[in-house]
Amino acid sequence: MPRTSAARIVIIGAGQAAAQAVASLRAEGFDGALTVVGDEPFAPYQRPPLSKTYLAGTFERERLFLKPDAFYAEAKCELVLGTPARAIDRAKKTIALADGRSLAYDKLLIATGSRVRRIQVPGADLPGIHYLRAIADVDSLRPAFQSAKHLAVVGGGYIGLEVAAVARKYGLAVTVFEAMDRVMARAVSRPVSAFYEAVHRAAGVEFQMNTGVEAFEGSGKLEAVRAGGKLYPADVALVGIGVVPVCELAIAAGLECQDGIRVDPFCATSDPDIFAAGDCTRHHGRDGQLIRLESVQNAIDQAKHAALAMLGRPVPYREVPWFWSDQYDLKLQIAGLAGPSDKIVLRGDPKARKFAVFHLREGRVAAVEAVKAAPEYIVGRKLIAEGAIVAADRLADLTVPMKNII
Ligand SMILES: Cc1cc2nc3c(=O)[nH]c(=O)nc-3n(C[C@H](O)[C@H](O)[C@H](O)COP(=O)(O)OP(=O)(O)OC[C@H]3O[C@@H](n4cnc5c(N)ncnc54)[C@H](O)[C@@H]3O)c2cc1C
Repeated sequence: MPRTSAARIVIIGAGQAAAQAVASLRAEGFDGALTVVGDEPFAPYQRPPLSKTYLAGTFERERLFLKPDAFYAEAKCELVLGTPARAIDRAKKTIALADGRSLAYDKLLIATGSRVRRIQVPGADLPGIHYLRAIADVDSLRPAFQSAKHLAVVGGGYIGLEVAAVARKYGLAVTVFEAMDRVMARAVSRPVSAFYEAVHRAAGVEFQMNTGVEAFEGSGKLEAVRAGGKLYPADVALVGIGVVPVCELAIAAGLECQDGIRVDPFCATSDPDIFAAGDCTRHHGRDGQLIRLESVQNAIDQAKHAALAMLGRPVPYREVPWFWSDQYDLKLQIAGLAGPSDKIVLRGDPKARKFAVFHLREGRVAAVEAVKAAPEYIVGRKLIAEGAIVAADRLADLTVPMKNII
């Protein structure tokens, strides 16, 4: 695309990927008109603190925002907030907004993120049942924590467990209901699941494993959760059972979608003038498998690659995925993507609350999960990027410093 002031780029969605795309487009020399359309009433903000320090009340709201207001003014980026985009007209290259306006684009970036999966059981609409995705969700959950006595967490994934840890700090009794036989089963190995379950139990959290919630009960407000045929008292519930990509606009516009907007390594959709980045996308990962990532890393890196591609300088997206979770005083850092038949190598002792699990595939490091183990995480990430072959016994040997393993 020629760099002329006539060129117009519109970004739908004002989240993590959008903020990065604005920064990258301007840093890469785009000097045309730039507009970000967001349905929330806020400029782009970071979500990770929502289930951690912001919920705990130790992280100020202003710090959630990814960029100061002055950044958008200096970048000459128009923010259209509190205004959902309703439709994309690919023939006319326009976006219809909920307020009746129409925006023209030369290139479009869809960065609509994901939304929470809602639980479909009787009583699911009772007051007292919460989800956690946005600032508004925390603003209603935090007061509930101040008055409630018993929290039911539905789903033992990252969000549910992070909220459980914060709730214990508020002094709430907490019961986690998990349909699988271990926590965070989608994302971590068995040793890491077992470690986190033990940590939460030691902090007073109760678990009902292999137990799906059947109903929420109460007259006018939540009073109990029915699960496994039994009733458990609860006056507040947090449902964390995953997210679904927001791709209705893309589907309606006829873009190729399959549990996410399909993008190529340059973040282009099936329309060469439309790109997508972040939680709403599905792409081929480093191993060639189709994946959908829900992480800050993916949103930032895809936004960078989408910006380059929109400016006619495409570079393929090959970054190693990474993720983190904070529960109590424990930082879990994960790099790479584990596979079901990886050889698992434990380095360190979970009882010391500081260890790492490496995943070896055909001798190469495919993923690392590190608990309070920054060197293992940092070196592990490098080993994954390099496709390094490493002997399992050296990885497991704490007398071999991580820096010597490379
Ligand atoms: C509570 C919580 C904790 C998390 N913790 C971590 C963590 O520890 N580490 C980590 O790596 N990741 C974490 N994540 C995930 C991470 O925040 C997301 O992967 C990231 O925000 C994705 O960025 P995005 O730009 O794709 O989407 P988002 O940041 O969700 O932004 C998308 C925006 O688009 C808006 N939108 C949707 N449709 C429209 C429309 N039609 N018109 C206008 N606007 C629209 C949405 O409302 C939203 O504001 C967490 C997420 C949550 C919710």
